[in-house]
Amino acid sequence: MAEAEDISLNMITRTRRVVLEALDVAADYRRDRIETCPDCRDGTCPDCVWRLQVIAEYERATEVVAATAQPEPAPGEAQREAAS
Ligand SMILES: [Zn+2]
Repeated sequence: MAEAEDISLNMITRTRRVVLEALDVAADYRRDRIETCPDCRDGTCPDCVWRLQVIAEYERATEVVAATAQPEPAPGEAQREAAS
């Protein structure tokens, strides 16, 4: 039982990490597109305005996902908890 809980906690932690990484990469990609936009130089064309909105959505999602993170127990800490 405790082992199953550990596995699902690990999966949640890993999934959270993957989601945060993906949101970071996606936001960077949009920023690069704005910097290299052929239609404007300052993020003011309709495509870039949309990209900025998407980046803001990614940043909000990052905050929400990061806020669900529990402090990770030190190695050995989780085993002691499971044994008690
Ligand atoms: Zn643009």
